[in-house]
Amino acid sequence: MKSEYDIIVVGAGPAGSTAARYAAQKGASVLLLEKDRDVGYPVRCGEAVSHEGVAQFIEPDPKWIAGTITKMKFISPSNTSVTMPIDSNIGYVLERRIFDYELAKIAATNGAEVVTKAYVYDLIKNENGEAVGVKALIKDEKVEIKCKVVIAADGVESRVGKWAGIDTTCHIRDMESCAQVTVSGLNFEEDTLDLYFGKKVSPGGYLWVFPKGKTSANIGVGVTVEEAKKKSAILYLNEFLEKNYPNASILTRIAGGVPCAKPNKVLVKNRVMLVGDAGHQVNPISGGGIISGMIGGMLAAEVAADSIKNQNLKQLSEYETKFHSRLGWRHEVFASIKNAIWGISDETFDSLTLSTLELPMEKRTLAAIFRKALWNKPSMVLEVAKVFLK
Ligand SMILES: Cc1cc2nc3c(=O)[nH]c(=O)nc-3n(C[C@H](O)[C@H](O)[C@H](O)COP(=O)(O)OP(=O)(O)OC[C@H]3O[C@@H](n4cnc5c(N)ncnc54)[C@H](O)[C@@H]3O)c2cc1C
Repeated sequence: MKSEYDIIVVGAGPAGSTAARYAAQKGASVLLLEKDRDVGYPVRCGEAVSHEGVAQFIEPDPKWIAGTITKMKFISPSNTSVTMPIDSNIGYVLERRIFDYELAKIAATNGAEVVTKAYVYDLIKNENGEAVGVKALIKDEKVEIKCKVVIAADGVESRVGKWAGIDTTCHIRDMESCAQVTVSGLNFEEDTLDLYFGKKVSPGGYLWVFPKGKTSANIGVGVTVEEAKKKSAILYLNEFLEKNYPNASILTRIAGGVPCAKPNKVLVKNRVMLVGDAGHQVNPISGGGIISGMIGGMLAAEVAADSIKNQNLKQLSEYETKFHSRLGWRHEVFASIKNAIWGISDETFDSLTLSTLELPMEKRTLAAIFRKALWNKPSMVLEVAKVFLK
C-alpha cells in the first residue's frame, strides 16, 4: 500500500467497488478500504435486481445468480393475490456474497488496490477543512493515507459524509426498519417475487418472499421506523413465518435500515463525494439500492477522475447535476408518490387488487396499477404534479 492515492473509496459494497472500478479505469490511482474481513459479508439485503440494471455493469453470471424471476405477485391485506409480469421481463435474486466479491475483484483487475479489515475512523483535513486523506485502522494498526478525493460508500450508517460537514441524517419518517431471514427446505415458486401489503403485515412498507431457487428464499419485512417503535419488524416477520412457513429452516437472520428518502441534496462537499446508501440513492418506493448505488458510484468516480486529471477539484460538484439528471429526479418523484400513498387504507389496497385482477395478464403493469391508484386517490395526482412543477 502506498502513502498517497488520487482517490480513496471507503466501503466495498456495490457502490464503492463500482466507484473504485470506474475511477481506476479512468487512470486514477485508487485505494478501496473495507472495514469487514470479507467483501460481501455479512449480507443485509433481499438481493433482488432487474436484469437491465445489473447487465449495464456486468454480464449476468450463474455463479452469483440464485434465482431468475419473471413475475411479481401482489398479495393484498385480505389475501387476494394478483400476478403480473415484471417490467423489465427478467430479474434476479442474487447471491450477494459472491456478487459483491466479484465487483471488488473487477475493481482490482482494473487497477484499484483493495484492502479489507481496514476501518476508516476519520478524515485528514487541510487548513480549508477539505479532505486530503483518511485515518484508518488497518489490521489493528493506525495509518494515515493521503488522497485528493474521498468517495464515501460507507452505507446507510455513513459517517464519512458527516465528517465532511454534510448533513446525511435520514428523517425517521423515511427510514425503513427491516428484518429478514433466509430459509430453506420448503417449496417456492422460483420465478415469482411475492410482495405482501397491509397494516397487519407491514405498515408503511411491504413484506417480501424472494425465492433463491426452488427450495430457499429471503423472507423479509420493512416497516417505517415510526411503526417499528410500536412493534418491531422482527415481530412482524416472526408472525408471518409462524402463520405461513412454520417449518422453515432458518439459515440466516439479519436486520438493517433502508433510507427510503429523496437523494441527499448535497452529494459533494470538501472533496468528499457520497455514493450509494451513504447519499440516500435508494429507490424510495421499492427500497432497492444496489443498482442505483452502482450508478452513483460510477458517476462520482468518472467526475472525480476527470477533475483530478484537469487539476480542477471545483469540477467535483458536476457529480450532483449528473446524478440528479440520471436518477435523482426520478427518486424525488418516487419519494413524493410514496408519501402520497403512505396513508392508503387496507380497503383501498384490496379494491385496487381486485380491479387489477380484471386486467388481462399482459396489461398488468405497474403503470396500469398506478393509474388505478390515482383514480382511487386523486390527491396523489396533485402530489406528483407538484414535483414536476418545481
Ligand atoms: C433488509 C434489506 C433488504 C434489502 N433488499 C434489497 C433488494 O432486494 N434489492 C436492492 O437493490 N436493494 C436492497 N436493499 C438495499 C441494499 O442492500 C443497499 O441499498 C445496498 O447494499 C447499498 O450499497 P452500498 O454500497 O451503498 O452500501 P453497502 O452495501 O451497505 O456497503 C457499505 C460498505 O461500507 C463498509 N463500511 C462502512 N463503514 C466503513 C468504514 N468506516 N470504513 C471502511 N468500510 C466501511 C461496510 O462494511 C460495507 O461493506 C436492502 C436493504 C436491506 C437492509
